Amino acid sequence: MTSKPIVVLEDVVKDYPLGTATVRALHGITLKFDPGEFTTIAGPSGCGKSTLLNLIGCMDKATSGTVIVGSSNTATLDDRSLTRLRLETIGFIFQSFNLIPVLSVYQNVELPLLLKGTIASHERRERVMHLLTEVGLADKAKSRSFELSGGQRQRVAVARALVTRPQIILADEPTANLDSVTGQAILKLMEAMNKEWNTTFIFSSHDPQIISRARRVVRLKDGKLDSAHSHSKTTHTHETNLEH
Ligand code: ADP
Repeated sequence: MTSKPIVVLEDVVKDYPLGTATVRALHGITLKFDPGEFTTIAGPSGCGKSTLLNLIGCMDKATSGTVIVGSSNTATLDDRSLTRLRLETIGFIFQSFNLIPVLSVYQNVELPLLLKGTIASHERRERVMHLLTEVGLADKAKSRSFELSGGQRQRVAVARALVTRPQIILADEPTANLDSVTGQAILKLMEAMNKEWNTTFIFSSHDPQIISRARRVVRLKDGKLDSAHSHSKTTHTHETNLEH
């Protein structure tokens, strides 16, 4: 791989305070992600997957080490610049969908464009309806999220994450609350979006069926990289792909 990485983590440590003690959730992680990757962060509950995604997503800051997203070292940015980086570069998909119940499907997908504030209404409409068509929900534009099934809600969440055309989509266990058939359908949709837009997808999972769909698997164990069980399918043989 020769392209410039879109995310770089160098010796990243994350501690959480717990009473008078601290919990070390990440123990010096060094990793790179290239544009257009379709990668899963795998590992059992508590191994640090959400912590890692939160740091890449600028939702939280590392205790030490470097997190570079796009070309910005996130430690050097103030809150305003971090918010801008999040809005312009990153889309999020959560396991609990996080849709706003009082808004329609259309309004939920439009919301990130309104927050961005620079996109004219006709273009917002075009983008929202294009994505709702792509995820097969154009006929549900006026529905409220509580009228939809879990799989439909997650499809809305995928459309909402993509509407700003971010370079990176982060998804924390996006299929955890779905049955396996619906989970596979969501993965298929993510794969299609990855191919169509070359969007970088980094998603966590502990489901072997979902993990097997990723082109690269980064495995965490107790807050450390489990290099022996991490691999990439971008070459013909399974090889460790942590250094590029
Ligand atoms: P995963 O997503 O793989 O389940 P997490 O990143 O949520 O793992 O958690 C990693 C470790 O950090 C766990 O031991 C967890 O208990 C701890 N942890 C996560 N968030 C917090 C927090 N806000 N306060 C204290 N400990 C936390």
